[in-house]
Amino acid sequence: MNHKFPILIVEDNPVSRRLLERILCKAGYRVTSAENGQEALDLFEKKFFPIVLTDWMMPEVDGLELCRILRKRAFESYVYIILLTAKDSRRDIIMGLEAGADDYLTKPFDRAELIARLRTSIRILKLEESLKKANEKIRIMSVIDPLTGCYNRVFMTKCLSQEIQKAKRYRRTFSIIFCDIDRFKAINDIYGHQIGDSILKEFAQCIMAHIRKDVDILFRYGGDEFLIILPETDIKGAYSLAERLRKTVHQETFMANGKQIHITSSFGVTEFDPARSDEESSPEALISQADKYLYKAKEEGRDSVAFLTPGPYCTTSRPEAVGSLR
Ligand code: GH3
Ligand code: MG
Repeated sequence: MNHKFPILIVEDNPVSRRLLERILCKAGYRVTSAENGQEALDLFEKKFFPIVLTDWMMPEVDGLELCRILRKRAFESYVYIILLTAKDSRRDIIMGLEAGADDYLTKPFDRAELIARLRTSIRILKLEESLKKANEKIRIMSVIDPLTGCYNRVFMTKCLSQEIQKAKRYRRTFSIIFCDIDRFKAINDIYGHQIGDSILKEFAQCIMAHIRKDVDILFRYGGDEFLIILPETDIKGAYSLAERLRKTVHQETFMANGKQIHITSSFGVTEFDPARSDEESSPEALISQADKYLYKAKEEGRDSVAFLTPGPYCTTSRPEAVGSLR
């Protein structure tokens, strides 16, 4: 169970150190040794050790100080520290544990007891690892829409705020595309909600397959509405992508429950102007602008893209410049 688990032995006495190295190597640990606390800290600069087995009384940085320093550092994973010392009074044990040691063993030690205590440390480290994995799963689930697998609206607001801040700070632009399936309600009404769900999933996959991987981000805004953030993209680039997506969806045959279904979709496109005032720079203001163009695309008869053509970083909207192309 402790197959090649890394462990750092900190012991100034060469005889004790070699004995510990032998015992722990034999027990299957990957052993590194340091002669004192300072050397241990230097080693930690280069490599992480999940288990530290340290003596107390050593020159330079002693075991107690080593515990305190390690506890103050923010490592990604927990360091399990065992103090192995000749100091055996109740007061010493309390001091050691209060300095940050997880366990305390007195010299002369019993081999079997040391191995058993190391197994305990591994149980605790593995528990920590599984908690970290579970937390990561929860964190991912909290930003993902369960039906389509896209990011959800909560995460969208966070990403949009970050993108706006970045664009304002570096005077860069980015665009967003708001898209919506045309007459989706009719799909539910004709084929039922399960097929409606499959269409939503396939629509999201189709969009995902045609945006820049690891750059553009697709979110489900809600219902049959989706939003794409396009970093470092001006309105021209965003428009041509939206038009490409429109054509792709138009041409695609979606399969749901053995049925071939054709759908169309409409797109509202807008570019963020970094010269906007702070009040106009909220995610809500940007979404509402894209929504306005989506509405125009619907008005145009659906299966279309509507967008605003801005001047270079112009601050005034020019509704007369709305473009809509089939
Ligand atoms: P328009 O072209 O104007 O967008 O028409 P529409 O019918 O698509 O517009 P509307 O917003 O009226 O309808 C969206 C429908 O999406 C209504 C709702 O029943 C359906 N819907 C929302 N969420 C889900 C979902 O998770 N699954 C399914 N199957 N349907 C959903
Ligand atoms: Mg719709």
